[in-house]
Amino acid sequence: MYTGRFAPSPTGPLHAGSLVAALASWLDARAHGGRWLLRIEDVDTPRCVPGADALIIDQLRACGLVPDAPPVWQSQRAAHYRQALDDLIARGLAYPCACSRKDIEQAQGMRGVLRTPGTELPYPGTCRPERGGLHGRPPRAWRLRTDGGGVAAPLRWHDRRLGEQTQQIERAVGDFVLLRADGLWAYQLAVVVDDAAQGITHVVRGEDLADNTPRQILLQRALRQPTPTYLHTPLVLAADGQKLSKQNGAQAFDASDPATALMQAAMVLGLAVPDGSHRVDELLNRWIAAWRARWPLP
Ligand code: GLU
Repeated sequence: MYTGRFAPSPTGPLHAGSLVAALASWLDARAHGGRWLLRIEDVDTPRCVPGADALIIDQLRACGLVPDAPPVWQSQRAAHYRQALDDLIARGLAYPCACSRKDIEQAQGMRGVLRTPGTELPYPGTCRPERGGLHGRPPRAWRLRTDGGGVAAPLRWHDRRLGEQTQQIERAVGDFVLLRADGLWAYQLAVVVDDAAQGITHVVRGEDLADNTPRQILLQRALRQPTPTYLHTPLVLAADGQKLSKQNGAQAFDASDPATALMQAAMVLGLAVPDGSHRVDELLNRWIAAWRARWPLP
């Protein structure tokens, strides 16, 4: 049974960009006779804004996007993340790490690898057990071995829109964090544990997250979970050409005029937008049919 989801982080109300991902995931589920779930990704508590979750749920409802089950909040699922991490530790797939960001920059700098602004350096594996582990330093974070305890192979995956993709995870990001130094659960672990727990078969989300997909597939395999099908949607760009985000002034869309907000989102998705004013349910029904034709499933 097709089960899809929308998984916003409640760092503020939905804006034009996040509505595109919400609409696309809803349309894909409806077009293929599936269920559509909502998960509030509030693990990164310092970035969450109180009340944003309720606001998001209201905005979605105004747009006719109503989940088929009560929403799930990640802040209530710590025990499940703990269990997954313990399982990985017990099987030698996760290890503690004592390195700060500065330590990583120094280690990579010695190899001539410098950080470019807005990016993170791959973790060089300093604290891997076979390299002497923590070297007597206190543990800060827990990381996943990206070599699966053996030979690192490029991870290949298929995206319904972007086509065949490949990433050498060990080289591109290195062993990545599962439990952060500040004690918070990392997005990668939470998303993989919850997609499995909610029985998600199809992930439809913004293209800015495509780069996370190989890490999530690797983690799914490490946790012996099925891999969903992926479709990454086009992004809404701000005036400066950057991805639209709260940082570059994305406004909450006007929930008193959901039809206009939905039509803007539909245009980004390449769906035909009728002239004149329309009811939300009429628009959605028209797009469900168009979506099914555009993004068929085998
Ligand atoms: N919570 C993530 C975000 O808002 C999305 C996670 C996902 O769809 O996998 O960027």
